[in-house]
Amino acid sequence: MKFLRPVTAALLLLSMPVLYVYCGEPILIFKGAKYPLKAHALPRSPGAPAVYETPMSEIPAEAYDTVIMQGMMPDPSVTIQVVTGEGASARELEKPVIKRFPNGRFWLKFRTDASTREPVRIKVTQKTPSGASFLSVYEAEAFSEAAEAEEGAGEPREYAAVPYSDKSLPFPLVARTTWKAKPPKASYTADSPVRFTLHHTAGEFPASYSAAVAEIQFIQDYHQSAKKWIDIGYHFLISPQGDIFEGRPATVVGAHVLNHNSGNTGVSFMGNYTEETPTKAALEAFLKVGRHLRTANNAGSKDFKAHRDWAATECPGDKLYARVGDLRTQIFDKEPALSVYSPVFQAPAAVPPGLKAYSELAEAVSAGK
Ligand SMILES: [Zn+2]
Repeated sequence: MKFLRPVTAALLLLSMPVLYVYCGEPILIFKGAKYPLKAHALPRSPGAPAVYETPMSEIPAEAYDTVIMQGMMPDPSVTIQVVTGEGASARELEKPVIKRFPNGRFWLKFRTDASTREPVRIKVTQKTPSGASFLSVYEAEAFSEAAEAEEGAGEPREYAAVPYSDKSLPFPLVARTTWKAKPPKASYTADSPVRFTLHHTAGEFPASYSAAVAEIQFIQDYHQSAKKWIDIGYHFLISPQGDIFEGRPATVVGAHVLNHNSGNTGVSFMGNYTEETPTKAALEAFLKVGRHLRTANNAGSKDFKAHRDWAATECPGDKLYARVGDLRTQIFDKEPALSVYSPVFQAPAAVPPGLKAYSELAEAVSAGK
């Protein structure tokens, strides 16, 4: 989900084939824990603050100076700390930037004093025990801010590219003006996409249209303020209700697949599909977007990929990834099946060639190698 660093990535792949399997994305991996991390803080003794701690993370793939995370924190009195290193070298990162939206969605950003490769632990404390000592971390990343920030950051300039909502599309679109998008932080880079990629947002699974609007506003803020991207990374976002939201204009480079953003339209399901099941409405909406992109991008069947087909990442979650083969068939077959969902979506896709490497990497990650 960030900008071009092809040389670095290639070198890492060649020189560190086993240890640093997550060189594709800066996600922090905690041994024995899976996102979303669900923290239920428990008091250690009567009257003592309730505490939850993650296991120590794997050693991050690259040196970092920034740790960010996003999730859901219903109780604003909860404190989140990040500790780097173990034993004598353990130290707590201070003065995080915290943003918590009224619905409990939050992101946090911590800086280290210097670039480091120390593993990380997240600690959650609730000083006043109550029934609401619950918190979910949807995603945590460690990266070098200079490397993660999108090129072109600087003075905000004119919104030069034509927004997609100004064109006629074969489906209704919740335009940026409707969901009250902030303007981009810098000029976009023009692009002529030829392929498209499926993602999940690894965020909230919104329960209504208004919750989806709140969620896309949160994601844009997370991408612009925590990740220092020009704008929300994706071109289209799809809610569980099947509403299609306008992200970046389709005619500009997005920020959604490391090293492969050029020529690549990013389409993301809101939610985490490691856990959630994609809704019928969202799958139907994706077919509309996909069939449009097949024409607009002049894309062939192999030009449609899921994020994990590009890099070692959970995205778009096993339950959504299982639908990719059927989506591909329905988007690219000359005569699409009569039904866009049942029973066509029931059989998981066969694993395409080339994915073995990913599953081996995933096993290595889960085995802590
Ligand atoms: Zn993704």
